[in-house]
Amino acid sequence: MKILATDLDRTLLPNGRWPADEGAIAMFNELTEKHDVLVVYVTGRSLALVEQAIREYAIRYPHVLISDVGTSIRKYTANAWQVYSGWDEHIKRTSPKWNAEAVRQAVSDINGMVEQEHIHCGPFKQSYFVEHNHHKALLKTVAERVKGHYDEAIIYSYDSQSGRGLLDFLPQSATKQTALEYLAQQYHVSYDDVVFCGDSGNDIQALTAGFCGVMVRNADEQLLANVKIALQQNPNLRIYHAKGDGKLSGYYTSGVIEGACYYGGLLSD
Ligand SMILES: [Mg+2]
Repeated sequence: MKILATDLDRTLLPNGRWPADEGAIAMFNELTEKHDVLVVYVTGRSLALVEQAIREYAIRYPHVLISDVGTSIRKYTANAWQVYSGWDEHIKRTSPKWNAEAVRQAVSDINGMVEQEHIHCGPFKQSYFVEHNHHKALLKTVAERVKGHYDEAIIYSYDSQSGRGLLDFLPQSATKQTALEYLAQQYHVSYDDVVFCGDSGNDIQALTAGFCGVMVRNADEQLLANVKIALQQNPNLRIYHAKGDGKLSGYYTSGVIEGACYYGGLLSD
């Protein structure tokens, strides 16, 4: 393993309803330092909310941050963030029809969805809160209005902590998956040497993209169901589901460590 990429909320961060192992984050910080692995956070959070998480949970700074569900890539060097400007150019070139304002207009009168605050939206991200109970009918209406018109990806996930649905419209060339693929290419790392860990709906693409996938033990039902379907279609996918190994519980950070060890990246070198 050369790249250890992980989602934050309820994957690396113990901010769900399951118990967390004390000391797991310190162990993650120490092991990733010791084994000289490129640490990448892949998250729906904005930069400000990532920094808040770093302070709040004492997780280490990553080498690279893929934030805003893949629409932004930054390097962290010499104690400062540096925007990966090539990524913006790549998105514009590969999703020429993307237009956040046009998407916004197209869905503006659909009941049951509320636009997220400005900090969660950007030129490459148009995001909404959705009533989870009605999400299936709503997603159907959304697809009728938007699908195929704007070089877009429509990504729905359920936030088990708040009980809300999260709906993101992104350029189809800028998701967690494509950002991680781009990064692997930039660093000349084979997908066999990339571990990606996740727990919920918006992790499915990256988990099934051909990297070494890890689901933490607390992965949600939507993700488990979608992984099952993906495995039926392609039995060669590598997706490890953390279960706890006696010492570590397999939840959150412990699941990330367990998964990285499973692929031979942390302890067994
Ligand atoms: Mg998550």
